[in-house]
Amino acid sequence: MTATRVLVLNSGSSSVKYQLLDMGNGSRLAVGLVERIGEQTSRLVHTPLGTGGEKRERTGPIADHEAALRAVSEELSADGLGLDSPDLAAIGHRVVHGGSRFSEPTVVDDEVLAEIERLIPVAPLHNPANVTGIRTARALRPDLPQVAVFDTAFHTTMPESAARYAIDVETADTHRIRRYGFHGTSHAYVSRETAKLLGKAPEDINVIVLHLGNGASASAVAGGRCMDTSMGLTPLEGLVMGTRSGDIDPAVTFHLQRVAGMSTDEIDVLLNKKSGLVGLCGDNDMREIRRRIDAGDRSALLAFEIYIHRLKKYIGAYYAVLGRVDAVVFTAGVGENAAPVRAAAVAGLEELGLALDSARNEERSEGARIISTPYARVTVAVVPTDEELEIARQTFALIGGELPD
Ligand code: ADP
Repeated sequence: MTATRVLVLNSGSSSVKYQLLDMGNGSRLAVGLVERIGEQTSRLVHTPLGTGGEKRERTGPIADHEAALRAVSEELSADGLGLDSPDLAAIGHRVVHGGSRFSEPTVVDDEVLAEIERLIPVAPLHNPANVTGIRTARALRPDLPQVAVFDTAFHTTMPESAARYAIDVETADTHRIRRYGFHGTSHAYVSRETAKLLGKAPEDINVIVLHLGNGASASAVAGGRCMDTSMGLTPLEGLVMGTRSGDIDPAVTFHLQRVAGMSTDEIDVLLNKKSGLVGLCGDNDMREIRRRIDAGDRSALLAFEIYIHRLKKYIGAYYAVLGRVDAVVFTAGVGENAAPVRAAAVAGLEELGLALDSARNEERSEGARIISTPYARVTVAVVPTDEELEIARQTFALIGGELPD
């Protein structure tokens, strides 16, 4: 195969994030973002990489996803990297929900696209935009393989005991209610990179991955296969997040309907947008929360403590699910950058074999690194995630491209 470039698209309802990668050597050629699509104040920020080009920005109305992709293609063309280039091998699309069917990256045809659309009721916020992104890219380059890489795919190996909710089976099956999990591309990438860091094969290690970004999820990975993960039918379940509550007694929702007269949509907004760290203290950025704690702010401290308490419970739970743990790994914005979160999450877990080297934990570095003490039984590590690279890799491998080591 001579064409080695893969364009990765992450289409949101009013935004498109993109990266162009060369899978011949794994390098990134350009990254960018179109935001506020459909508004008068749309903005495209494009950064060519490795060509010596400067970051470029354009503002002004971009009507829809098709106009956005055309604008992206123009920017790429200006660097000789346009969508019409014969060097482009495929387009890889991040798709949030793949339901139970899609356990692998999949070349999109009409039938696959229809199935992704059928999943819209379980992913109303994300799948419509993903479908639009795929449609638009197909229209622009109908001859090119378009590959869907699903956020849920890595979690399809979960045993039924972890994937099923304890509710009436018929109701669950009729409405496809089960635990799907999300951030799968990140959990897959990070657990594999952890094996590299430990100098072992993924099949030989058990890892707890803590993906702590604005959205946050934990997973228990045994021998490269996901055994459990903290998000469920939707990304609302599990850890305390930037704006989401994570685990909550479902009866809270009935209570809010009956006692506070709130509608289903209002409760949805409350739990997804106005809860988590923002609900607890008004801020969802961990840097700001730490700054407030240092200034003696009690509500920021309580928010932090609730966040850590939940995280610790999941570490303990997944330790028990796995039986033996080789590594606990932190990734994403908070996990990679917030040393106090990592320190607090594993504090007091020495009996479980977890002990941090505080100097290593405080050190800042770009790459993957071990932050536990040399004698700790369980390695604690920071492994930066790279979902775009993983999507590009999976896309390229699926169309028969050979990846460098
Ligand atoms: P997402 O992809 O879910 O939007 P990210 O993985 O980019 O999120 O993480 C974003 C979050 O990372 C921010 O909300 C902030 O809380 C946290 N973060 C980023 N940089 C730092 C830092 N230097 N220290 C602490 N937290 C940070």
